[in-house]
Amino acid sequence: MNKLYDQNNIFAKILRSEIPCNKILENENSIAFSDINPQAKIHILIIPKKPYLNFNDFTKNASLIEVESFWKLVNDVIEYTAVDEEGFRIITNSGKNGNQDVPHFHVHLLGGNNLGRMIK
Ligand code: 5GP
Repeated sequence: MNKLYDQNNIFAKILRSEIPCNKILENENSIAFSDINPQAKIHILIIPKKPYLNFNDFTKNASLIEVESFWKLVNDVIEYTAVDEEGFRIITNSGKNGNQDVPHFHVHLLGGNNLGRMIK
């Protein structure tokens, strides 16, 4: 267990089913659910089930099977929502400068409409 991981972050609570989520898809190691405050017509969060803080923690410390099944789920959601037909964006925020609010690694999948420039 990563000592810095906050067991009470909101995604940890979703994973423990303490608070609900609108689940889109799931596999053995990862889960995808709708963002509660969508920034695009389609805004889905994909997270690993194990406690990783951010992108670095996940890519460095997760097993190859976890990493593979995580990105497979991202792709499954892309296909399930058909966002690839018109295009999409994947974002992962990390730390203070990245304005990461929830300290459990996640990627945002955004699509369904034109997303504008990446950084204002
Ligand atoms: P971050 O800023 O950490 O990259 O993104 C965290 C995301 O989690 C935000 O887009 C925010 O809307 C979303 N979020 C925060 N609380 C909840 C929640 O309780 N349920 C869901 N589904 N999403 C949440």
